[in-house]
Formats: sequence, structure tokens, C-alpha cells
Amino acid sequence: MKITGLRVYQVDLPLREGRYSWSNGNFVEVFDSTVLALDTDAGITGYAECCPLGSAYLPSYAKGVRAGLEELGRHVIGLDPRDLNVVNAAMDLGLRGHPYAKAPIDIACWDILGKATGLPVYTLLGGKQQDKVALYRAISQQAPEEMARKIAGYRDEGYTKFQLKVGGDANEDIARIHATRTTLDNGEILVADANTGWNRHDAVRVVAAVSDLDVYIEQPCMTYEECRSIRQRTQRPFILDESINDEATLRRGLADDAMDVINLKVSKVGGLTRARLMRDLCVSAGLAMTIEDTWGGDIVTATIAHLALSTPENFSFSATDFNSYGTKDIATGAPKRVDGFMTISDAPGLGVEPIFEALGDVVLKV
Ligand code: MG
Repeated sequence: MKITGLRVYQVDLPLREGRYSWSNGNFVEVFDSTVLALDTDAGITGYAECCPLGSAYLPSYAKGVRAGLEELGRHVIGLDPRDLNVVNAAMDLGLRGHPYAKAPIDIACWDILGKATGLPVYTLLGGKQQDKVALYRAISQQAPEEMARKIAGYRDEGYTKFQLKVGGDANEDIARIHATRTTLDNGEILVADANTGWNRHDAVRVVAAVSDLDVYIEQPCMTYEECRSIRQRTQRPFILDESINDEATLRRGLADDAMDVINLKVSKVGGLTRARLMRDLCVSAGLAMTIEDTWGGDIVTATIAHLALSTPENFSFSATDFNSYGTKDIATGAPKRVDGFMTISDAPGLGVEPIFEALGDVVLKV
């Protein structure tokens, strides 16, 4: 089997709540997502989606996905898509870095491998280790009382894990964490995610002010070194996200005891091949993960579900159902949240079929 071409689609994903805000005044109202159809000479097409969280969250942006795919196409056409490591090696040889642009090709190859073998991707990733995955709900940054007020509605949707977007003014963030924790029940999880937004002195003030609360602290500062400094000054469980970009940064974090949980974003690390490697490394090291991505619609959510379902439950801290944050369906067969959990069918590959009317015309063909 050989890859014969790439068809690339661009789709706007508006938010149900109108706006998603996080640290440093950043926000997105309509997400710019890219869907890839990877064609083969066997009549099998693999699908994938990549959607950066705007342009200021990580070194990735929506137009970069499409520019990267245009550059990468010639390096993978003619290769057997079932040879995942061969395809990844060819991409790495042809384009240094830019893992998020390589991710859709890698993920589409997993979809093709599943369709060619008649197996769901979760089987190919090691087999189903849980029947359904617990989800978290991100709470967009607003005034403290407004964020606390939102908990009730999300709880009605079944969520028991909540991620507060902080990383703004330190005094207001302390109020956000206190206001929210007091509305939560015992057993409900609260994460305060600063998304790199605090300076060291702000972060020290915040972790001291919430030292008697049941709250996780996530990515307080920009650099790994700053985060480690804060980690050493708090007893709260500690999550790294933006500082864990690949296997090397994960191994460094493990060696330094720099975190208790990581957020594993599939596109950030280059796709499912590398995400699986990092997932397995975390399991072997006893580290739980939130399995997610930077953002996305139905196809990203399905990809997350396959990796999360093939992860042992006690290492699956949470996952994200991005397709429930948006208003637009872009594929059938994707997971739908039920009582704060998601699962996926045993259909071959990712088990999704794009809704081409929603995707519009092909914007790039290689
Ligand atoms: Mg985060």
C-alpha cells in the first residue's frame, strides 16, 4: 500500500460559550481547524485533525499546520502508511521540528492501519484498558464568582474534574481558587492552570495562599526551571503541560521529580506514535496523565479517546471532549460525552467519517 496524496480542509469551529479565555489576556472565539484526508492506492483514506489553541499558546498556529502539510507531502507520498516509524523518520528527515504539522499525517496513518487490519486504533495502541474515560471541564477565565457559578452547570453535565483558567492577576487568581473550591464536593477535582502566566513571585504568593486547599497547581510559569522552583515550594500536587513537549522533556521531568501529572497533547508531540511512547513511559514511571490536545472537533476528540481508552484507568487522570465545547459537527462516529465520560465504537481505525459538507472545499492538495 502506498500514500498517493493529501487533501487538506480548513474548518471554523465556533464556541458554544462564545469565547475561551486564558492567561495573559489570550482568548479565542472561533477555532481554525485543519482536517487531513490521506489517500492511498488501496482505496483506503485516513483522516486526522489538528487545531492549535490560537497562535500565542504554543509555538504552533493554524496556518502553520497547512503550510507544514504542504511541505511534508512530497516526503511521504509513495511510502506505505502502515509503516508508522518509516513515515515518521521520513517526515523528520524532510522537515526539522514542527511536530504539530506532522501529527495529522501520523494520525491519518494510524487510521489507515486500523482500516487495513479491521481493528480500532485503541487495539493497535495496546488494547482497551478502560471502557470509558473520565473527562475534565476547562473553565474559561472570568471574574472569580462567575467561574465558581459555572461549576453547577458543568456538574449537571456529569463533570467531576474542573480546570480553572488562572494565570492572571495573582490576587484575583487566589480569589478564583477559593471561590471555586468552596462550591465543590469532596472527591471533585480542582486544577488551577496558570498556563505560564505567573511570574515566580506571583506563583509563590498564590501557592502559599491556597496551601490549605485541595487543589492541583498546573504550569505556573513560562520556563521549566521556574516551574521547578515553584514545585519545590508547594505541597500541592503539581502538573506540567507547556513544559513537556517531547520524550526528552518528559524524561528530564521524571529524573528531576518535577511533576505528579503531565498533560499529554497528541498534536504537540507529533501524533499518536510519539504520544504512545510518552504514555508508555509515564505508565512505567508511575505518572498519571491528562490525555488531550491543543483543541479540535470530532476527529481530535476521537483520537484522544483511542489513546485514553488504551491507557490504564489509574494513570488516566482525565481527558478532554473538545467536540462538546463547539457548535459544529465535522465527523460522524466521534465520541459523545455521557455523564462526564466518553467512549468510542469498535469500528476500524479512528471510527470517524468526515461530514464533507461541513468541511467545504479542499484548500490544499498535494
Ligand atoms: Mg494546561
